[in-house]
Amino acid sequence: MEIGTPRRTKEIIAKYGFSFKKSLGQNFLIDQNILNKIVGAAELDKTKGALEIGPGIGALTQRLAEEAGKVTAVEIDNRLIPILRDILEGETNAEVVHGDVLKLDLKQLFAERFADVSGVSVVANLPYYVTTPILMKLLEERLPLEHIVVMIQKEVAERMAAKPGGKDYGSLSVAVQYYCVPQLVCTVPHTVFIPQPNVDSAVIKLTLRDKPAVDVPDEEHFFRVVQASFAQRRKTLANNLTAFVGKDRREALAELLKRCDIDPVRRGETLSLEEFARISRAMLDAGWNA
Ligand code: SAM
Repeated sequence: MEIGTPRRTKEIIAKYGFSFKKSLGQNFLIDQNILNKIVGAAELDKTKGALEIGPGIGALTQRLAEEAGKVTAVEIDNRLIPILRDILEGETNAEVVHGDVLKLDLKQLFAERFADVSGVSVVANLPYYVTTPILMKLLEERLPLEHIVVMIQKEVAERMAAKPGGKDYGSLSVAVQYYCVPQLVCTVPHTVFIPQPNVDSAVIKLTLRDKPAVDVPDEEHFFRVVQASFAQRRKTLANNLTAFVGKDRREALAELLKRCDIDPVRRGETLSLEEFARISRAMLDAGWNA
């Protein structure tokens, strides 16, 4: 019988005497419709690979094994490893790796596991306590990914997909949109998990861009400009960036922003990625490597 139903999940938990660890973000999916939506959004076929982070008892893993050519599932909780091996016994294209995804050498894992597939996507119901570090690791390591389709906290999904001008738009939106095109797939009620989390959830699909959304000579500097622009959300761009470049450059900064065609009294949350890139480029041209 398919895993990912309330009855089967309760049976497995009882059979193996499993107890949930809140500290590991263990909220297992028990709804076939949501599992179908996640797997459907990943555009898998038998030529593709899927990396799952946090397989739990394997509800999503089993569905991924049906759709993809190869599945590798990384699980941190050693109590789940024998359960997963048992449950996935017949799925010859699925492999379980015991480890912390934040510590694993993913480039090596990709080379060992996904050398012969035509593309790899990350598909997961992520542990919410480490959503952002996991996603930033996947993006910053420039892994050759096609899509990232993940269940995450709804509020975080909204921040990732936010456009300039709203309260949700911030440095996370810029970081994600620099590497990807985000799309909210669906919002998800508490009732589709055991145990139920006390936050709302959403599935987000991030499609990796061939090259970053904007052209910047120094990525690290670009992201420091972005961080600085959002340092105090109620302050103007000029005030936030003065704190970044130093008070003695206050006037020169106002000139620099005007040269970039950006009004210094705007707030960081109104700037597009291209505008942040323009500021970073102009600062570097002026020799301001702060
Ligand atoms: N995929 C399952 C499902 O949908 O029913 C379980 C999802 S549950 C939200 C998150 C899973 O991630 C848990 O199994 C948890 O043990 C695992 N996990 C937590 N932190 C992890 C980490 N750093 N690396 C790998 N797995 C982790």
